[in-house]
Amino acid sequence: MPPPSASSSDAPEPDLRRVRREVRQGRAAPWLEAPDVRAAEPGSRAQAEIIEGIDVYAWPHNETSTGVAATIERVAADGALTVIDATSAAGGIDFDVTQTDVYYFAPQKNLGSDGGLWFAAMSPAAIERIERIAASNRYIPEFLSLKNAVDNSRLNQTLNTPALTTLHLLDSQLQWINDNGGLAWAGGRTAESSQALYDWAEASEVATPFVTDPAHRSPVVVTIDFDDSIDAAGIAKTLRANGIVDTEPYRKLGRNQLRIATFVSIEPDDVRQLIRSIDYVLENSGA
Ligand SMILES: *Cc1c(COP(=O)(O)O)cnc(C)c1O
Repeated sequence: MPPPSASSSDAPEPDLRRVRREVRQGRAAPWLEAPDVRAAEPGSRAQAEIIEGIDVYAWPHNETSTGVAATIERVAADGALTVIDATSAAGGIDFDVTQTDVYYFAPQKNLGSDGGLWFAAMSPAAIERIERIAASNRYIPEFLSLKNAVDNSRLNQTLNTPALTTLHLLDSQLQWINDNGGLAWAGGRTAESSQALYDWAEASEVATPFVTDPAHRSPVVVTIDFDDSIDAAGIAKTLRANGIVDTEPYRKLGRNQLRIATFVSIEPDDVRQLIRSIDYVLENSGA
């Protein structure tokens, strides 16, 4: 759902923020029963568990704002669907697609393309659910109709005209990944890049990985906390002034932190060079 106003400088009114949260969590949809939402502290993750009466289990493969990755494992075998938002994971983390019913993503992260278009790998059970709900009396706007999306995709069509550049970039990226060995290769490469940063932070006297449990650390988005004696925003600013961009943290997290994408397109050697550059800034900033 688009934000109601384009003036992003003003913080939303508290009630608007509540409405947005409810929309995000599915609470605002009158035809859905209240969801059971499992929260976790930023930097950690919650684990889905079998709950009687739940017909969809849903979570992100990779939490892009905090740098937490989740395991992809089917929760229940009783017909409940496992639905995964994979936008920042797809193409960069290896996984078993048979553990999901809907694995959906936009291609603007590891897949090196642009936003505005979504893809989904769906199981027969997910298609059956889509057909069943479409055949019920529930009103579904065209734009949100999954049946429409499925029917169109079978004809190699989309509801709205997609930008060709998006498809061209995605196609090149997929060929590049496949030519190099596919998703297993891509996952190995992001693991190598991210591990270089985690190892550096573990060994550093002023930096620590924000995600404390190594098993929860994302291979594609690395978040590094800094000691209070260090101004992380200052490091990011110095890096930017020297042509090394996009190390700033997720603003709403409000931490003394750098956040670094280690998407598959990024050369592991460039990540190692970034580490040397951060060390250089730390040694020469007089902090
Ligand atoms: C970036 C991201 C999104 C947002 O993708 P849009 O194409 O802008 O909707 C959603 N979920 C995750 C996990 C992301 O990383």
